[in-house]
Amino acid sequence: MEELIRKLYETGFLEREEFKKLIEDRNEESYEALKKLASKRAIENYGHDVYLRGLIEFTNYCRNDCYYCGIRASNKEAERYRLSKDEILYCADMGYKLGFRTIVLQGGEDLTYKDEEICDIIREIKKLHEDVAVTLSIGEKSKESYEAYFKAGASRYLLRHETANEEHYKKLHPDKLSLENRKECLKNLKEIGYQIGAGFMVGSPYQTIDYIIDDLFYLKKLQPHMIGIGPFIPHKDTPFKDFERGSLELTLYMLAILRLMFPKVLLPATTALGSIDPKGREKGILSGANVVMPNLSPKDVRNKYMLYDGKICTGDEAAECRKCMERRIENIGYKVAVSKGDHIDFVNNLIKC
Ligand code: SAH
Repeated sequence: MEELIRKLYETGFLEREEFKKLIEDRNEESYEALKKLASKRAIENYGHDVYLRGLIEFTNYCRNDCYYCGIRASNKEAERYRLSKDEILYCADMGYKLGFRTIVLQGGEDLTYKDEEICDIIREIKKLHEDVAVTLSIGEKSKESYEAYFKAGASRYLLRHETANEEHYKKLHPDKLSLENRKECLKNLKEIGYQIGAGFMVGSPYQTIDYIIDDLFYLKKLQPHMIGIGPFIPHKDTPFKDFERGSLELTLYMLAILRLMFPKVLLPATTALGSIDPKGREKGILSGANVVMPNLSPKDVRNKYMLYDGKICTGDEAAECRKCMERRIENIGYKVAVSKGDHIDFVNNLIKC
């Protein structure tokens, strides 16, 4: 194990069988060793800075029916909402005042918002605050749509691939959705010039260690700027309601592995991680993560954006979340960075230009 960890640290990659051993035979000792090296790598690249992204969950209408997701189209129990342009701009402005320099607009695939409307919202946010990066996380769209959003000023896009294994993908999604299209979207986004975020759930139903290794190989090939992983957590009104949730321990282990594979990647300690353990996000940062995404959605809609049961921060105001996050980060010896927090290579390229 020691040798594998050393090799991963030095070369950033392992053979499939080596990854398998590292994950299958994991124990407290191997986690501690990985964690130590992963946080060292993170600090080498980003110091003790933790980047904040303000998340606005602007609609929970969704045309898709992913079996794991609480806002899937067939969930008749979900109370649906969508925010108006003015409400979104209000949240973004509030975020700016609270020190956020990245605003993430996330939602279900809600076709009520036409591309022109999305573009208009992006332009307005950029007009209000030139030094804000707008990130989108609104699912699978055509390349033309992605191009239009990019032209309007969006510069980043989060689209988790969910699982890089074809068989597994089919077990998590209805036939209408395909891994092929998901990958095509990520490819298009990258070609257009977005900083992209991919990622997967840890412990999703039917996941095996081999599938996780498929994720690692796919990510290696894709080279995203951000990688979002978090534990799968069941939602009571979905077909996966009776499945076990993903474990804290494996999620932290995977974060550390990802940090060693991708020393410079932006790696969030996700809300799902914070939802399965009161100190989950702090533990994530100490395992190599360097981004957190506090919620900026209006208080009255927060408990409606329920992707899974037990989601944290559903009763807080944006300002409370911001303060709470800062305190948590400082308590573990890190600090909140008030900057856009671009991927390092992205910044270097801009300087070169
Ligand atoms: N519609 C957008 C945003 C999806 S929600 C899109 O398709 O990209 C953001 C992420 O939440 C998903 O990519 C998924 O990985 C995660 N998620 C959904 N349901 C979840 C659950 N039950 N447990 C943990 N994470 C979940």
